[in-house]
Amino acid sequence: MMTVEECETKEEEPETEEWAKPLVHLWQHRKPHLQYEREYNTTAAQTAPHCAVCTLFMPYHQPENLEERRHDVLMSAATESQGSCSQEAGLRSRPLIPEICFAYQEGPCPLNTLLEEDGSSPLVACNSCCVQVHASCYGVAVHDVSPVWTCDRCVSGDFAAGCCLCNLRGGALKRTSDDRWAHVMCAVGLPEVKFIDVVKRAPIDISAIPVQRYKLKCIYCRNRIKKLSGACIQCSCGRCPTSFHVTCAHAAGVPMEPDDWPYVVFITCHRHQSRSSSSKVKVSKSELEVGQTVISKHKNLRYYSSRVTQVTAQTFYEVMFDDGSFSNDTFPEDIVSRDCAQLGPPEVGEAVQVKWPDGLFYGAKYLGSNTSYMYQVEFEDGSQVLAKREDIYTLDEDLPKKVKGRLSTASSMRFQDAFFTTQGERKRRRTPNSRFQTDYIAHISPRTFARISETRSKAN
Ligand SMILES: [Zn+2]
Ligand SMILES: [Zn+2]
Ligand SMILES: [Zn+2]
Ligand SMILES: [Zn+2]
Ligand SMILES: [Zn+2]
Repeated sequence: MMTVEECETKEEEPETEEWAKPLVHLWQHRKPHLQYEREYNTTAAQTAPHCAVCTLFMPYHQPENLEERRHDVLMSAATESQGSCSQEAGLRSRPLIPEICFAYQEGPCPLNTLLEEDGSSPLVACNSCCVQVHASCYGVAVHDVSPVWTCDRCVSGDFAAGCCLCNLRGGALKRTSDDRWAHVMCAVGLPEVKFIDVVKRAPIDISAIPVQRYKLKCIYCRNRIKKLSGACIQCSCGRCPTSFHVTCAHAAGVPMEPDDWPYVVFITCHRHQSRSSSSKVKVSKSELEVGQTVISKHKNLRYYSSRVTQVTAQTFYEVMFDDGSFSNDTFPEDIVSRDCAQLGPPEVGEAVQVKWPDGLFYGAKYLGSNTSYMYQVEFEDGSQVLAKREDIYTLDEDLPKKVKGRLSTASSMRFQDAFFTTQGERKRRRTPNSRFQTDYIAHISPRTFARISETRSKAN
């Protein structure tokens, strides 16, 4: 472990990247200085959506606004000299973060009594650090909304406080259950973090964050600071290993959007941005009926015309393995540490043992379940397979290139090698952690992303 002195000896070269310039005084290894936080917070408050929490879904760095923002900084500097945060009283707007993003468990959201009937919430600004937030985003009760509001951190007087989930100061902090501080934004962005009181957004329970997240290297701050800390999120595209802190990604302009629980935030790294418009399209395939003629994959791995003979609902469990990889299609019977058929699913967050097709047992954490419809299809040779909707094409659906290339007529079926794959192996997918894949960009299949949301909406 490095000492504080050691990491401060590396005196920074001047910052060259635009997005990082406003942050130079905010990295946590530098001496805390409330004035820098005030300036940063004031600038953020003047930028839509004017809330330091739901700005998560509106990237801070937008190059085209640069001139405007410089102007803002000057304005705020002028305000600073008068020793007050600039805030127009009585501002209110609709938060960008849906309530579900604050909830940890599936099911009805606790009613956020802090939201007005029209879904809007007043904006309040801290009279000490100038951070501005929606009352609902920060969990400020109606009777505490006032022009002289003070954020939790400033009330505590802990002005050296920094978020324990990232490396940046500034922004909206809340107490963690282990008596540290965390950004509300970081808490929303990290999937395992929980708000113990969802409406108050505090305390923030970070105890379920797997250790792997702390080992991931943030592509934005790893070259800027020596002693990295905090927990990283990863790009949501396929198996993209790109990792970053929530605040670094936000500052650098990485788009983040609400996603479906338990993956609250959909993150698109810079490398995937150009493709994001296509990858985000959630393909909604129609339900299939028994008797319908479709094209599906034979056991010989080629595609043939076939007929749907049965439709069944299959529950899958979503688990996160101890190495940080995910699976959202684990069979309940593969949880070996619990008799799920008898007892039902484990508690969310519970540690479980999972039997994997390689025959080994792996430690994992239960995250939730989803229901997927499975289709039994019969080919002309009489053989049957069980397939997911995403692997079946109706006659009026466009066939992807890879399917077209493997489309055959029944007469060729018997000449194919018996190159069998078991259904179990094929259906299960894990998303490896970047530790094991240094620079692997997965083949992007829109259906892979669509799956969670599709199946979840069916389950609801
Ligand atoms: Zn907000
Ligand atoms: Zn404050
Ligand atoms: Zn943070
Ligand atoms: Zn970072
Ligand atoms: Zn990516």
